[in-house]
Amino acid sequence: MIAGAARADGALLLDAALESIPYGFCVWSADFHLVMWNKHYLDIYGFPARRIEKGMTLEAVVRLSAEMGNHPDQTPEEFLAAYKADLLTNRSGLRAKVRELVDGGRTIETAHVYSPGLGWVVTHEDVTEEIASSEIVQRRKWELEQQNLRLNAVVNNIGQGLCMYDARGRLVVCNAPYARIYGLPERLLQSGTSLEDILAHLFDQGMKAGGDRDAYLRWRRDVSARGEFGKTIHELNGRIILMQQHPMKDGGWVSTHEDITEQRQQEARIAHLARHDALTELPNRIQFLEEMASIEPALTRGHQAAVLCIDLDHFKDVNDTLGHAIGDKVLKQVAARLLGTTRETDELARIGGDEFSLLLRQVAGPADAAAIAERITQAIGTPFNVDGHQVVIGASVGIAMAPADGDTTDQLMKNADLALYRAKADGRSTFHFFERGMDEAIQHRRTIEAGLRLALARNEFRLVFQPLVGLKEDRVTCFEALIRWDHAERGTISPADFIPIAEETGMIVQIGEWVLREACQVAMTWPTDARVAVNLSTVQFKNKRLFETVVAALEESGLPPTRLELEITESLLLADNEPTLATLHKLRALGIRISMDDFGTGYSSLSYLRSFPFDKIKIDRSFMRDLEQKGDSLAIIKAVIGLGHSLGMTTTAEGIETEEQLAAVREQGCNEVQGFLFSPPVAPTRSSPCFARKKTTGCAAPSDPH
Ligand code: C2E
Ligand code: MG
Ligand code: MG
Repeated sequence: MIAGAARADGALLLDAALESIPYGFCVWSADFHLVMWNKHYLDIYGFPARRIEKGMTLEAVVRLSAEMGNHPDQTPEEFLAAYKADLLTNRSGLRAKVRELVDGGRTIETAHVYSPGLGWVVTHEDVTEEIASSEIVQRRKWELEQQNLRLNAVVNNIGQGLCMYDARGRLVVCNAPYARIYGLPERLLQSGTSLEDILAHLFDQGMKAGGDRDAYLRWRRDVSARGEFGKTIHELNGRIILMQQHPMKDGGWVSTHEDITEQRQQEARIAHLARHDALTELPNRIQFLEEMASIEPALTRGHQAAVLCIDLDHFKDVNDTLGHAIGDKVLKQVAARLLGTTRETDELARIGGDEFSLLLRQVAGPADAAAIAERITQAIGTPFNVDGHQVVIGASVGIAMAPADGDTTDQLMKNADLALYRAKADGRSTFHFFERGMDEAIQHRRTIEAGLRLALARNEFRLVFQPLVGLKEDRVTCFEALIRWDHAERGTISPADFIPIAEETGMIVQIGEWVLREACQVAMTWPTDARVAVNLSTVQFKNKRLFETVVAALEESGLPPTRLELEITESLLLADNEPTLATLHKLRALGIRISMDDFGTGYSSLSYLRSFPFDKIKIDRSFMRDLEQKGDSLAIIKAVIGLGHSLGMTTTAEGIETEEQLAAVREQGCNEVQGFLFSPPVAPTRSSPCFARKKTTGCAAPSDPH
């Protein structure tokens, strides 16, 4: 706007030109008075037209500007000083830009040029939008850079190899792990490298990828061409790499490469654990059954094999007395010894706590299997030394021959198990072949086992008594209590049939307690010089309360201890067991007599007789049976009787059935006899067991004559 009343046409023209300029415009004289301006100038700074006039000082305009709220972060003086300095230093005519903050947060850019005739010609442009849009671009760029940086960090820091291919199968980008996993040289990592080139290099390095090289390349191409997901395993230099190819929309793909060697090893270890026993490292039941199953077809064709079920004897005692840590060490040594008895083609497994199985894939016949079973019982029967402990166990072995005893895994395992059962029943540390009919025998045994659990409650036990006759006294001195079981369906069952089972299951403890109480009570009904003998099982001594049980039976019945005899067998003294001997001594100290029953049948070590001061030795009846045929039986009887005399022990001959036997033992100086010649075991009577032996016919049954 050109101020002044008179306007020339030229001035009007200038005015119009000024107003048409799309930015603010003003001119300052050399001494900083306003010369001219246009409307944009007023609008930009919000100056009311009436307050701007020609000749106004820069100072006045700046103050007005401050009043309008412009450059709020500077005082008018500061602004003025800076502005003037800027104009003055750039007087040379160079354009300089000054940014001002005006009210409303807008940014105005000024450019000035000094013209010597006119002064400073200044243009003012609102650049708020321009700046804003360029800032957005800058920000986007920055964000993109950040994102790329982050992506780069992620891509190179994940363990997996990652690479991207375009639709033509050319490498676009790959990360460091990719190069590392495959040991790829730098030249193959450049973008543009073809997948074919990379794979060719890897195959040259010895990579395996299932199938041959061409087939693999074809497969990769097909998967890419069809845009499908693909997955395969590469093997290179002992490493296992999982490759997965994920299609992209543009026809290219991203592949991931993961070194799964450790994972595979772990899996292999887990698979191994699932099929092996952790303690001995031997195959377990699962593995064993699978191996068995794998030879079934050969067995059906008549191929011979043998299955051995091996069970340790007395292993529970090791655990109970020495603890599980020692037990474990014994098992490890057992496994090693068993392995030593096997051949390359055999399969040995641990299938339970102290149970092992052995598959002999190649045998000519039962003799081969027997030889190995023999080796096993010997190897395990040899004492073990574990942490300074001498451990004596044994092994019982059951053998099933294939295909004679079955050609399926199930049958063979079952039959070998039945044979094992028999080997155990045969006194352990031995082996037994499967025989037809074993099944029924086992069934019978199981019935007994089940019935035994109920027998006490059902009152199915009763005692019978067999007299022992003193030869010097010529009368009955004692009655031996013998148990009978009246089974509801099977009739009376002999103790020989159920006592061993009661011992194995531990039920003998309760049954024995009942026998003791019952025998003492019955004996109380007899004349006071008749004793009662009660058989005690070795298993009963394992019960710490045995002594108390005996005392209780005596107290309850009122029977004096001197009228009680306890019969034990040699097996009790097999293990030199301090607590057992202590119990025996305590019982004997009460006045109870202790007899050694069935002497000569077991281990027949005369040293047992020295380990405890027995009151009586009962010579087993097998010697009487053989008396007439075998001369050495008489010699043994003679020796035992002699020994008994010298040790101050009574000797009793069991199983006297004939007058000849009686005469023979009497002649040797035997003190006491027992047998059918006098009386079989009979039901107890209240008042008159037989006391006087009839001279030739034996003793009358202790039945009540009344
Ligand atoms: P044992 O203690 O040696 O008992 C003697 C066995 O010999 C009895 O058999 C008896 O009937 C039999 N016997 C007696 N005289 C003769 C004879 O002249 N000839 C023949 N051939 N045999 C004769 P039983 O009653 O069948 O008992 C067998 C075994 O069962 C007993 O042998 C004993 O070891 C055990 N037993 C019996 N009752 C009990 C019991 O209450 N507790 C325990 N732990 N064992 C018992
Ligand atoms: Mg006896
Ligand atoms: Mg006996």
